[in-house]
Amino acid sequence: MRQPIIAGNWKMHKSIAEALALVAELMEKLPNPLPAEIVLAPPFTALSAVRDILAGTEVALAGQNACQHAGGAFTGEISASMLKDAGCTFVILGHSERRQLFGEDDALIHQKIKTALEHGLKVIFCLGETLAMREQNRTAEVVRRQLEAGLQNLTAAQMENLVVAYEPVWAIGTGKTATPEQAGETHAFIRGWLERAFGEATGAATRILYGGSVNPKNCAALLAQKNIDGALVGGASLIADSFCAIIDSTHSSCSE
Ligand code: PEP
Repeated sequence: MRQPIIAGNWKMHKSIAEALALVAELMEKLPNPLPAEIVLAPPFTALSAVRDILAGTEVALAGQNACQHAGGAFTGEISASMLKDAGCTFVILGHSERRQLFGEDDALIHQKIKTALEHGLKVIFCLGETLAMREQNRTAEVVRRQLEAGLQNLTAAQMENLVVAYEPVWAIGTGKTATPEQAGETHAFIRGWLERAFGEATGAATRILYGGSVNPKNCAALLAQKNIDGALVGGASLIADSFCAIIDSTHSSCSE
């Protein structure tokens, strides 16, 4: 049985005051008990303030990125141990905005994953194809390449601290969602790859999230897919009611 995860990626939104107001509203509206593991990824500037008001709750904090280096003269970068210090237990790595807008390639993302795991963070590892790749029927090839490069030489023990997030690039922030069948097909492919690479038990235990314009209307059908273990939510995580509705839908939907 895989515990579902609903993670909110706030991207470059929310001042500290706005972040605190959103978390306060979430605290009032979140179902009790929580039906899923909840992870919030505010901007770096709001992390420690959000950590303080989350103290004593089960909601986890994530960084939206981390440096591949453990520390040193890397102006503008944030290390894995700094994220831990600011209260994070997770970090999002390999997000398509990092890949496409900031030139992060598979090799760099692999380094970041290794460093984050070595410093005790859990990793939400994002991957997914562009529209052009999907239209050329290259989704499986691209996803396989991202998995092979990102997860090379990781051990089954390290995989216990890694969550995969399948995020088709054409569905992120566009309002276009993969159909449950399209998402389910790629999730099944990822599950099969994980089972072959790390053994059946690890492959079966690894959580695979879907991301890409998830909202209160489409989440139940997506989460009902056998291999979809939760969602990485961008836009809809910025509004307490939408995010809570997505969380509520895990009650009925997550199957395994
Ligand atoms: C994301 O940023 O990971 C994401 C999936 O964004 P959105 O939900 O807005 O498409």
